[in-house]
Amino acid sequence: MTTQADQETIIVEAFINGQNVKSLSQLAKENPTNPSEIVGYFPVTTREQAVDAIEAAAGAFKTWNQISIDERIIMMRKAIEKIRAAENEIVHLLSREHGKPLYDAHGEIYVSLMWMEFACNEAKSALQEEIKEHENGKTILSYDPIGVVAAISPWNYPIALSTIKIAPALLAGNTIVLKPSPYAPLAAAKVAEIIASEFPAGVINVVHGDADVGVELTSNPLVTKIAFTGGTATAKHIIKAASETIKDMTLELGGNDAAIFLESFDVHDERAMRRIVISNFLTAGQICMIAKRVYVHRSIYDEFVEKYIEAANRWIRIGDPFDSNTTVGPVNNLKQKNVVLGLVEDAQKRGAEVIPLGQILDQKLFDQGYYLQPTLVLGCDVHDPIVVEEQFGPTVPILPFDDEEQVIHLHNESIYGLTSSVWGKEADAISVARQLEAGTTMINTAAVQGLDVRFPFGGVKQSGIGREYGVEGIRTYTEKHVINVPKTLDLPYIPE
Ligand code: NAD
Repeated sequence: MTTQADQETIIVEAFINGQNVKSLSQLAKENPTNPSEIVGYFPVTTREQAVDAIEAAAGAFKTWNQISIDERIIMMRKAIEKIRAAENEIVHLLSREHGKPLYDAHGEIYVSLMWMEFACNEAKSALQEEIKEHENGKTILSYDPIGVVAAISPWNYPIALSTIKIAPALLAGNTIVLKPSPYAPLAAAKVAEIIASEFPAGVINVVHGDADVGVELTSNPLVTKIAFTGGTATAKHIIKAASETIKDMTLELGGNDAAIFLESFDVHDERAMRRIVISNFLTAGQICMIAKRVYVHRSIYDEFVEKYIEAANRWIRIGDPFDSNTTVGPVNNLKQKNVVLGLVEDAQKRGAEVIPLGQILDQKLFDQGYYLQPTLVLGCDVHDPIVVEEQFGPTVPILPFDDEEQVIHLHNESIYGLTSSVWGKEADAISVARQLEAGTTMINTAAVQGLDVRFPFGGVKQSGIGREYGVEGIRTYTEKHVINVPKTLDLPYIPE
């Protein structure tokens, strides 16, 4: 097995106008498996450098938007091949800086490439100008680039949630300034650098840092579109920062996704039980669309809990992300570990029962890293913080419900509405799904297992604005420009 000790320390710089730019100060990115080990260093980009990056993107936009879509697709396809060739190296770096097991890091690259391929295949038809002759004359609808895109990504899926923005933004003729999260900046920067090597200088720029740089990116008048994935609280700051210059925005935010198990669900279906466990604990629960609260019909509740614990104890193996036996790694950072611990302790104080799940493969590693043993929380009130807040970590509450009306109400009273899932006989499940307020609802599966990049993805209510993925996820990087040529210049209802 390749060990973490075999890997070298990585240094990334800001990338502005085709050049690596030195920074006066750098931050260390620790390994969540062993926080005393430094995986790499990344810069603290100054606001002045962020302005340089935005100006470089604005300068490059003038010529980039004149390049044909065919040429853009050729460049993106070359970038995809380069990422594929470097996949192993990227996966190891991602696993070390993030803490996600290698199979999970491969999964992230797999989804990223699937989306980039889809975007290349669909860009031409999605962006094709439409000309319609009709009774009033002729209308030309064109999908024009918006300009400079500020792409801000979170730490949980740093590559997938950066490429989800880079590929369509560039294919649509925009230029970009990417800011990955300081909690997972290295692999995203590497991938952006690989993509940038196929594009003209200034088309992709990468800056690093947190809120300070983020404020520049979201308030600078030269930025015309913000593509943000992250927390709902951060999005509220972004909306304020962007309000002075009214920018186009796609916001992919937090969620508190429910999994609803109807009376018709078969608790003896071991594959389904394994799927829900994975949908709760993949990436140690740190996924926006993971199932974060589970509601089970009271008639099957006791047996469900028993089978769930069996399935969880089989699948959850907590250990070194580089060990192929490991299914769950550490939490990415201490702050997040404490958020999850706080919610579990609060539930316990309120009288909930907390059941540890899975086996710890390496106790020494577990004690040294940001590890948390996954837990199941039973006996909560429906409005306890662990139920209504986004835990974003390896713990899940399971609650009984009595009828569909009640569970639909519990689902829809949340401020969030990203994804949800309904499990049981297909017709029953679809009927409940139609009544849920969410961007995506999955039947008999949940989380990334039910994701399809060919269809739009996003949240309702405080889970977001706009959609990524699908044809919608390409057109979101365009202005829809209508040119009307009226047939008659008569003005029918206006007096002479
Ligand atoms: P976060 O909001 O703390 O940070 C996200 C990004 O915003 C980071 O790059 C951060 O540096 C930057 N940022 C922080 N302050 C900023 C400011 N004032 N202006 C501009 N940028 C700023 O989120 P996180 O902790 O990195 O990610 C976890 C959150 O992301 C969870 O709530 C999760 O549900 C959500 N998420 C949503 C989706 C989705 O598709 N809906 C996907 C993944 C994660």
